[in-house]
Amino acid sequence: MTVADRTGGARNGSFDVVVVGGGVLGCAVAARLSRTSARVCLLEAEPDVAEGASKGNAGVAVSYYGAPETAETRLITASNPGWEDRCRRLDVPYRRIGAVMVALDDEQALRLEHTRAEVSACGVPCAPLTAAEVRELEPLVGPRCVAGLHLPDEGIIDPMRLTVAYAQVAVRNGGDLRLGTAVSAIRHHSDGTSTVTTSAGTVHTRFVVNAAGTGAGWISELAGGEPLRGWPRQGQYAVLDRAFGSRLSKIVFCTHGTGTKGINVVPTTHGSALLGPTAQDIEDPGDRATDPGTIAHILAQVRDLVPAAAQAPVIKTFAANRPAGDEPHRLRIDSRVPNLLHLTNRSAGVSISPAAAEEVLALLQNAGLDADDRPEGADRVRPVPRLRTAPDPSSLVELDPLYGQVVCACEQVSAAEINHALEDAVPACSVDGIRKRTGAGYGRCQGSLCLAGLTFLTGVHTGTGPAATRQTARGTVGS
Ligand SMILES: Cc1cc2nc3c(=O)[nH]c(=O)nc-3n(C[C@H](O)[C@H](O)[C@H](O)COP(=O)(O)OP(=O)(O)OC[C@H]3O[C@@H](n4cnc5c(N)ncnc54)[C@H](O)[C@@H]3O)c2cc1C
Repeated sequence: MTVADRTGGARNGSFDVVVVGGGVLGCAVAARLSRTSARVCLLEAEPDVAEGASKGNAGVAVSYYGAPETAETRLITASNPGWEDRCRRLDVPYRRIGAVMVALDDEQALRLEHTRAEVSACGVPCAPLTAAEVRELEPLVGPRCVAGLHLPDEGIIDPMRLTVAYAQVAVRNGGDLRLGTAVSAIRHHSDGTSTVTTSAGTVHTRFVVNAAGTGAGWISELAGGEPLRGWPRQGQYAVLDRAFGSRLSKIVFCTHGTGTKGINVVPTTHGSALLGPTAQDIEDPGDRATDPGTIAHILAQVRDLVPAAAQAPVIKTFAANRPAGDEPHRLRIDSRVPNLLHLTNRSAGVSISPAAAEEVLALLQNAGLDADDRPEGADRVRPVPRLRTAPDPSSLVELDPLYGQVVCACEQVSAAEINHALEDAVPACSVDGIRKRTGAGYGRCQGSLCLAGLTFLTGVHTGTGPAATRQTARGTVGS
């Protein structure tokens, strides 16, 4: 089937698979399905992808997260070795920098032993460390460290660029991406197909993939599926800028507690560092507020782990909500509705995304989806040269003179990169959308200097005046 045949589906509003949710999991599934003969449509309520948990996570592509032989562990293990190659194809920043897990007293050292046994049982490389060895690997770890564990296969990734890249692949292959399109009803027909009603019309489909994150319970209810008990679990973070992040060479995990993975110090691919997250069950999935008490708690926890981190200036705080629930991970066909597949993950959705997408394809094929791989199906995006990381930045001006016009001074983002983000197959529709795609505004000044330039360029591309230009996908500041 050619792209033209496949986009014919879009014109008719008829698809083989409708994916609900444009987070990292929904976009990974859409990207994978788009490389097959199946006609795929992704429906996302927000005007951009990566607006849910996929926007506000730590960006650790984990090698280990929990007990061996669970479905989640299997997907982490299957995804982990391929990150370098995958991220090269998808033009996504990734570095396998490894992690140290730190015990601060004898009781934690005992728990670390338990973790070591579990990591080994998962088949993941790890090695016990003395306190001196921990500090050799990461000199910023504090003097209270009594023992540690080295996890060399942990990596850091840009989770928003990953989500956008998956969406770009889907679109490039003829997938239909419908943003600002909230699902409000799902009706089934006797021939095994379904009609999905949205805020922007209806679509007809053979299968529905429910990747709606904290909204997955609602989607299942709309489809007459199983009750999926879920709730948002909020995680707050404090962000330190590059002046601190550049000194950090490893992810520093605290010893896992019972039922919580605790507060960690995580370098980002942008060079900043994240302190967090907390884990608090809340009611409103739209609540992304941080509060000074919780940030003070994070800093207090970090003080013993990496004392220098607690002293560095915090440039930003943010919160995101994990799709928590009775099941931390779901990837299965609904037991009541045979053409409905649920895909949700609370805490490792980024890390499982490639293998989860493969498994969704296999399950759908098993359920009767006709989906053969197309040799012409793209599995990559066109890379965008980045001023900050280019080996020879001045040569980029020959590609496009706008590389010479730096808009975000802190993160060294040029007008050329920003224009690309605004013109891409999955374009930014807001200043925040540019931040997601380029890092502009991420730095120490948090956009104080570049906001006018970003707003102007967004306004030019989206056809709005500066006063009406969206700061975030939702249109408001701070959401
Ligand atoms: C604080 C925190 C830290 C984390 N750290 C990590 C980490 O380091 N590594 C890791 O691998 N994972 C991490 N995670 C977990 C990871 O972020 C999630 O597992 C992952 O983002 C889930 O992706 P998703 O696509 O299922 O959900 P989401 O990204 O939440 O996407 C769901 C989408 O569905 C849309 N939607 C909902 N209802 C509807 C509807 N009716 N119609 C249309 N669209 C709808 C929403 O708008 C949303 O965009 C972390 C999560 C949090 C919150």
